[in-house]
Amino acid sequence: MSAFDETAVARVKDAADIVSVIGRYVTLSRSGSGHRGLCPFHHEKTPSFHVSASRQAFHCFGCGAGGDVFTFMMNFLGISFRDALEELAAEYGVDVSTSVRSDPGASLLTLIAEAHSFYRQCLNQDSASPAKAYLDGRGLTPATVDGLGLGWAPSGGALVRHLAGRGYSRSSIVDAGLALTAESGQTYDRFRERILFPIRDRRGRPVSFGGRSISGAEPKYLNGPDSAVYHKGELLYGFTEARAAARDIETVILVEGYFDHARLFQAGLQCVVATCGTALTQSQARQLISLAQGVVVCYDGDAAGNKAAMKACEILLAGGCWPGVTRLEQGMDPDDFVARYGIDAFISRVETASDPVSFAASLAGGWEKLAASGRAVQAVERLLAMASKASGPVLRETMLRKISDLTGYSMDTLSRQMEQESMEQSSPRRQVRAVGAPNSTADHSLLKALISGEAGGLDTGLARFLEPGDFLTGDARDLFMFLKDRAVSGSALPPLPGMPPALVSLFSSLVVAGSSHPLEDSDRERIRERILRRRTSSRLAELRVRLKSSDGDERKALLKEMSELRSDSVQPGGRDA
Ligand SMILES: [Zn+2]
Repeated sequence: MSAFDETAVARVKDAADIVSVIGRYVTLSRSGSGHRGLCPFHHEKTPSFHVSASRQAFHCFGCGAGGDVFTFMMNFLGISFRDALEELAAEYGVDVSTSVRSDPGASLLTLIAEAHSFYRQCLNQDSASPAKAYLDGRGLTPATVDGLGLGWAPSGGALVRHLAGRGYSRSSIVDAGLALTAESGQTYDRFRERILFPIRDRRGRPVSFGGRSISGAEPKYLNGPDSAVYHKGELLYGFTEARAAARDIETVILVEGYFDHARLFQAGLQCVVATCGTALTQSQARQLISLAQGVVVCYDGDAAGNKAAMKACEILLAGGCWPGVTRLEQGMDPDDFVARYGIDAFISRVETASDPVSFAASLAGGWEKLAASGRAVQAVERLLAMASKASGPVLRETMLRKISDLTGYSMDTLSRQMEQESMEQSSPRRQVRAVGAPNSTADHSLLKALISGEAGGLDTGLARFLEPGDFLTGDARDLFMFLKDRAVSGSALPPLPGMPPALVSLFSSLVVAGSSHPLEDSDRERIRERILRRRTSSRLAELRVRLKSSDGDERKALLKEMSELRSDSVQPGGRDA
């Protein structure tokens, strides 16, 4: 948090309404004074995910996930606080450029941008003619090569020399993933004699590269390692270009390789992203779903590609999307397919993509073949396992219907079988956390009153009156101290990303469940009286213990204090804090 000006954070939070931001990813319906939907962070059948517009917070009473609009973006899309802030700021037209202080990743980004322009220049030199010939052989035009920013990594340590000449330290080149250090201590280029594809972050800035060897050197594809600015499982290759295109056409195509992407991009399909050698992750799936409602998986037409496509479907279903999936001829990838049959044939494959159930059946040679071979029961179980992971009742029912159509089993039989299997596998982490202990209930109602101030802030009267000792449980006490430290000067609550992670869930549950009406004077008075009574009785208990081991003057003083406490406690408000 220290890298951000809190007023900038508050301005973005004011502008970006949490209900509309979350509503893009989760179907929300009105419920009381707030909104409710199926939790995107755990698997559930009845909605326990609440969003409060008046408090600009969300909380899931099933799994405890909670926070504000930034926490949601960070956890749902798997991005950093900075990225969430900058993305929302850009979208809602809030200028935060002067308030965001220096980014520790900024110097790495500058270095990588410098490397990228060096690699691009190298591709235009005579020595790169084999690379150009290779790209030409793969059917890519100079305009595509340029448009995608492809480059060439020469041999002989050219990048390290170039960057060192511009004042970059060798260790920072290593940190960026562009060089390696040998045991001898010598630093050498990671990418040598490879065609490079720049991998960009969600804002279009190069953060790493993928390199294709053209000399037969292994591995065929070499990807840069994770670094401070690049996390493999969180980025989709081609995301920025696809984002612009996918809004218009509502469908995004997921492919495996750089050349698949390049070929489709060249043919005018920009709504394409690639996983580039990694299995689709939850975080990538969420980003895909955020691009467009329709996702079509189009992987290589070999056994490995088909298996990866099934896995991708499963992850997309769990993410709340009903994916389409195309099956290409054995041994063909989208690049080969378009080269041979043309882009129109490819588009029609995408438009007639199978659903995940038919795809799974077609991989096994069709349902009849499965049934005839006696593998029907296992096949149904596998399909049901996939259905049970789908997010939300609508998707699960869609899956079941497809399975029923395919296999002839009734919906009823299938859903009973699925229930039974999911009961057998139900894991303890899905259980609702016990929050009903008496001490925590008292603490929670006190905290709810505390955070019911004007404009969603602290009740200043209570904030001044309460003391850490008024809370009976450690978490509540920590949260109280955090809120009082951070927010008592004004009344506004602190932005959630500044809060210790252990407290966020408790805080969001109270915010979402709490009332959005400020306390009346009479409420505040009742709370004060209750707390005063409790302070008195705990002080009396303490004095009684000390009395047992005291005599003489000390005993007299203790008895006097006890009698004063007893007489004060019958007059409400008689002993103020
Ligand atoms: Zn949840």
